[in-house]
Amino acid sequence: MAQWEVVIGLETHAQLSTQSKIFSGSSTAFGASPNTQASPVDLALPGVLPVLNRGAVERAIRFGLAVGATVSERSIFARKNYFYPDLPKGYQISQYEIPVVVGGGLQVHWLDAQQRAQSRFVHLTRAHLEEDAGKSLHEDFAGASGIDLNRAGTPLLEIVTEPDMRSSREAVAYAKALHTLVTWLGICDGNMQEGSFRCDANVSVRPIGAEKFGTRCEIKNLNSFRFLQQAIDYEVRRQIELIEDGGRVVQETRLYDPDRDETRSMRSKEDAQDYRYFPDPDLPTLVIEPSWIEEVRAAMPELPVAMQERFARDYGLSAADAQGLVSSRADADYFEQVVKVIGPAQAKLAANWVMGELSAALNRQGIEITAAPIPPAMLGSLLQRIVDGTISGKIAKDIFGQLWATPNTDPAAVDSIIEAQGLKQMRDDGALTAIIAQVLQDNPKSVEEFRAGKDKAFNALVGQVMKASKGKANPQQVNEMLKAALG
Ligand code: ADP
Ligand code: MG
Repeated sequence: MAQWEVVIGLETHAQLSTQSKIFSGSSTAFGASPNTQASPVDLALPGVLPVLNRGAVERAIRFGLAVGATVSERSIFARKNYFYPDLPKGYQISQYEIPVVVGGGLQVHWLDAQQRAQSRFVHLTRAHLEEDAGKSLHEDFAGASGIDLNRAGTPLLEIVTEPDMRSSREAVAYAKALHTLVTWLGICDGNMQEGSFRCDANVSVRPIGAEKFGTRCEIKNLNSFRFLQQAIDYEVRRQIELIEDGGRVVQETRLYDPDRDETRSMRSKEDAQDYRYFPDPDLPTLVIEPSWIEEVRAAMPELPVAMQERFARDYGLSAADAQGLVSSRADADYFEQVVKVIGPAQAKLAANWVMGELSAALNRQGIEITAAPIPPAMLGSLLQRIVDGTISGKIAKDIFGQLWATPNTDPAAVDSIIEAQGLKQMRDDGALTAIIAQVLQDNPKSVEEFRAGKDKAFNALVGQVMKASKGKANPQQVNEMLKAALG
């Protein structure tokens, strides 16, 4: 392994979030009964003509601007000819020689196998618009396959990288960054289970120091980050073993089988000439006026990289915190709404809760932050009570649990719970003095150990006092008063 270098280029199909298809008015909604959303245009029946969906083009422009690419003022739709049962019309409309988006790239960050931080600008070759094919269904039909053409004509943006990546970890980091970006931009829903975001991995190996790339294999349709990583790792091992045993890699298309954790040959690789590309005579040149590009630019949301820098700068957050918070636009929005309630000076507290307690609860339940039973304003008022000293962090966690279990939209809910359950932090020195005196009397051994220089004994005493106060004492105050009492 040590003498081999891995080379990876990814092609990602992002399904664009338009309501209707790229060349027809049929719906793109997922999950309808088979063949109810396939119009004569999607099937290219005689006598119909495709009409380009403006929304699909607008999304491609948005993507191009976000990755610093060139948006082509003129681009061309071509027919890519092949037959497959899920493509009965015999060609896919795609872009070939002149794609709508050219160049650009993404800055990608990841941890290598030694947990060292790495970063690279991954260059994009292009991104082009195309239509999806239908789907073959093999499970429900004994001895036959069913064909569902609902997906035919669904708009895709195929995003192609240069062969810049050098490990499966880097490839996964790129795919995640791209996923964050397309969902952030609102151009793709990012649902990988439904196939809205899927990657083809081109993988080759070469001796370290060699200039020429090795022969690549393309692993098709990886629809989870884990499968992407496993498929690349397997493929790298396979190619190295093959070469070391005196064989050579043949260029081909392979499929990853997660059940066996291996890739298998699907077909030998077609060359572009096999597809007999030619400009689609039914579609005029796509012309994008500069004024349209400027309109789209003006409506662009703040991008993750810019937002991360702003969080670090304006809220004094660490790079890691800021990066974690922009892992999705929904996370970032939630965080900012909490900060709005408790103020920028408390941003670190908000960051800790959003990425800690809240994120853990969401993971346990397997739901998205947009479906969180505790809205950001509610979390904000809870944290506000920590900030103003009404409750301790520990009590806040208890209240968080209650709010989670019994969702409540009443803005006063936090204060009602504190009031009703008597959760206010103990402010009264007298009561605390009494508790401390009692604890010291009941734990002579700890007191003795503390005096003998054991720090642990002090913590044990703090614990006892907190327990006796039912968590309502302020830990810092307990520390100070206990030190004084033992002094
Ligand atoms: P095709 O369109 O036939 O799949 P391309 O030449 O457009 O082929 O390349 C597709 C992808 O393969 C790109 O992402 C590119 O970066 C990647 N790629 C090309 N050569 C190699 C190689 N030797 N090893 C790994 N990836 C490669
Ligand atoms: Mg390809």
